[in-house]
Amino acid sequence: MLQSQLPIANKLLAALPRGEYQRLAEHLETVELVEGEVLSEPGEAMRYVYFPGTALLSLLTLVDGSDVFAVGLVGREGMTSVACALGSQLSPFRTLVQCSGQAVRMKSKAFIKEFRDSATLRDMVLQYVLSLTTLIAQTAACNRYHVIEERLARWLLMTRDRLSSDHFHMTHEMLGYLMGVRRVGVTNAAHALKERNLIDYSRGAIDIVDGPGLQAAACSCYRMVEGRHGRS
Ligand SMILES: [Zn+2]
Repeated sequence: MLQSQLPIANKLLAALPRGEYQRLAEHLETVELVEGEVLSEPGEAMRYVYFPGTALLSLLTLVDGSDVFAVGLVGREGMTSVACALGSQLSPFRTLVQCSGQAVRMKSKAFIKEFRDSATLRDMVLQYVLSLTTLIAQTAACNRYHVIEERLARWLLMTRDRLSSDHFHMTHEMLGYLMGVRRVGVTNAAHALKERNLIDYSRGAIDIVDGPGLQAAACSCYRMVEGRHGRS
């Protein structure tokens, strides 16, 4: 089946006028992404622009060349490689697959050409760049000012919103890696949220059992940023 005939899982692509999407679809290919896969490294050329469907990606920044910190999340509401829209083909981030799933991708060169040619695509992508910048800035402040339990609640809610599911696979190791804290710190925070009957977890599967309660347990950063863009 042609890409243009498939249901459009990615919200940015789905929001394009049909004709614009058809033109873009000629360049799109569907890929299955696997948790832990790295799609780009800082300073490297980005071959592709990814538009996640069921997959969820984290944007990580490196500290002292080895430690990492997640500064952004990209799900069906967004795309990777936004630097292409700002005139650079070099990745500022490590892009990691946080949750396995499907995405479509197109070559960066083809994207840049379409971006230059289409005012509609340009407006839409720049709007997304603004919302992603807001998320990154808020996450930087969050990492400095808020405690692990609040940050964990926020990260779980952001994950839920992008996957449109209260149930997802995510290990404490992965959460610790993303949040730049030790695994034991994540385990203690997760245990505290479980004790409050807000989440449940076992063997890497996480269930959000009380969404409003978890939202109340999250720091204000969740409402500041996500409230603006709405739940998926
Ligand atoms: Zn926060």
